[in-house]
Amino acid sequence: MPVGRRPRRSARPRRRRLAAPIVAATLLAACSGAGAAPAGAPAAAEAPTPAGRAAPTLVVLFTVDQLRQDYFTRFERQLTGGLGRLWRGGAVFTEAYQDYAVTETAPGHASTLSGRFPRSTRILNNRLGVPDPNMPLVGSQATGASPLRFEGTTLVDWIAARDRRSRALSVSGKDRGAILPIGRSRQSVFWYDGTTGRFTTSRYYADTLPTWLTRFNARRLPQGVAGRVWMPLLADTAYAEPDSVPFEAGGKSFTFPYALPADSAAAAQVVAGTPWMDEITLAAALAGVRAMNLGGGRSTDVLAVSLSTTDAIGHRYGPDSREIHDQVVRLDRALGAFLDSLYALRDSTRVVIALTADHGVTGFPELTRARTGQDARWVDLKDAIDRTQQWLDARGAGGTAGIALASGMLFVDKAVLAKARVGPDSVAAFFAAAASGVPGVLRVDRAASLATADTVRDAIARRWLHMLPPQAPIAAVVTLTPGSLWGMPGGSASHGSPHDLDAHVPLILYGPPFATGRYDQFVRVADLAPTLARVVGVPPTERLDGRVLERAVASH
Ligand SMILES: [Zn+2]
Repeated sequence: MPVGRRPRRSARPRRRRLAAPIVAATLLAACSGAGAAPAGAPAAAEAPTPAGRAAPTLVVLFTVDQLRQDYFTRFERQLTGGLGRLWRGGAVFTEAYQDYAVTETAPGHASTLSGRFPRSTRILNNRLGVPDPNMPLVGSQATGASPLRFEGTTLVDWIAARDRRSRALSVSGKDRGAILPIGRSRQSVFWYDGTTGRFTTSRYYADTLPTWLTRFNARRLPQGVAGRVWMPLLADTAYAEPDSVPFEAGGKSFTFPYALPADSAAAAQVVAGTPWMDEITLAAALAGVRAMNLGGGRSTDVLAVSLSTTDAIGHRYGPDSREIHDQVVRLDRALGAFLDSLYALRDSTRVVIALTADHGVTGFPELTRARTGQDARWVDLKDAIDRTQQWLDARGAGGTAGIALASGMLFVDKAVLAKARVGPDSVAAFFAAAASGVPGVLRVDRAASLATADTVRDAIARRWLHMLPPQAPIAAVVTLTPGSLWGMPGGSASHGSPHDLDAHVPLILYGPPFATGRYDQFVRVADLAPTLARVVGVPPTERLDGRVLERAVASH
C-alpha cells in the first residue's frame, strides 16, 4: 500500500436512522451503580447545527490504542458487538491516517480532539507527552502527569467557549490516553494506576477524587481478575493465526491459556496487559456518565474513552497473533455492552460517537522477514550517535552531550553546538552520513531540507513536516525501512514510524448527524475535531490542520 494516498473517489453514502436503543443486562451495567445522578444542568441556548437539528447532548470519542484499520476487515464477520455496530452503521472512513511521522500514543491522542498535527500541539512523542513531576497523582507515588506541554485548544474548549456549563469526562487505562484528548482543560480526567490498583487523577486537575470514583475504586474490579485464565473467546477454528509463535512475548510464554496471579495486588499490577482492562475502563466511564449526569442536560458534554489493552497485547504478541485477534473480538463485545448501557441512559438521537486510534502497529521484523521476504530489521543507531558526538567533542564540545536521538528525531543542544562552533545543519549532515548506510535505515532528512520537500509526492517528508514545530531543536530525522523497528532482536512489536502500518487507522462517525456508508477518500484524524465541532454547532477558536468531513455530515 502506498504511503498516504491522496484523495480520490468516495463511496455514495446511504442515509439510515439509528436503531432503537437495545437494553442489555451486562457486566458494565452491573458494575456501574455508583452515585445518584445529580439534577441536569440548567438549560443552555441550543446552538442550531447546519441541518437545523438540535445539538447533541453528548459527544463520545473512543480511541482504541493501536487499533489498526485492517483489523476491521480481517475480523469483520466476528465483530457482532460495538465495533461491528459502528462499522456497519456509521460513516466509515477506510483511508484515514495519522498524517505525521512519530506515530506514538501521546501525539496520536493529542490530535484527536484538537484537529491539529504535533507541530502545533507540540506533543512530539511519549517522553515529551504528559510526564510532570510537579503534578503528582492523587493517592499514589507513581510519576506525576499533566497536559502542560500541550499547546492550543480542543473541542472541549470550543464548546466551553459557547457554553460554560458543558463538561467533559475522560477515562483511560493510561495517563496520556486520558489527558491528551482533552488538552489543557481542567475537566474530569482519570486513568488507571497499576501501582495502587485504582483509577486516579493528578493535582493538575484536583486534590481529591470525586465520590463516585472512590466508590468505583472500592469495588476493586482490577483486583477481581486474580486467578482468572485468559482463553480464546471463540472456538479454535475461528482463529486463522497460529497460537505458538516463538517471536512473541520475547520468547517467553506465548501460547494460550494465560493464567493471572492468584494474589489480588499482583493481579491489579498486570491487569492492564489483559482484555479485562478495557472492560474495567468502560465500566469506570459508565459510572462517571451516571454520576455526573453527563449528556443528561441540555448542554453538549464530551466523553472521551481511550482503551489501552489492544496496545499492550499488540506490543507483546504482535498484530498477526491469535492473542490480538482475541483481544479485538473481546473489545468488540465490551464496547457493544457499553453502547447498550449508554443508550439505555441517554436518548440515542442526541448522542454522536466517533471511533479512531492513536496509531497502528508494525509486527516483529523476524516474522515480517520470514513471511514476506521484506528486509525488515531491528535498528540501533548508537554508533552513529557516538561518532557524531565525538566529532562535536573534537570541535570543542568538551564531552558535553550535544545530541540525542529520540523517536527518530535528532535533538540538538544549541548551547553545546555554539561552544563547538557548528550549526545544527552541519551536525545533521555529519549524522546523516554516519547513519545512512546502516541496514534498516531508509533515509535521513536534515530538518533544513524538509521545508523544500514535495509534500504531495513525498508523503514521508509531509509527515515529518506535520511533526516538527517551528524552532524545535531538531536537526535531522530518521525514517526506517517499512517493517523495521528501533531496538534489538527479542524486542516488542511496535509503532512510531511514518509508514502506513503505523499511520493507517480507523475513523468512524456514528449517530443521526452522519450519513452511513463507506468513504474511501484520504482523510486525517485531524479532520475529526472540526467535523465534530460542525455537528455540535460550535466554531473552533483557532486555526486547525483538519477540515470538516463534509460528505459524512447528513445534509437534512
Ligand atoms: Zn498508543
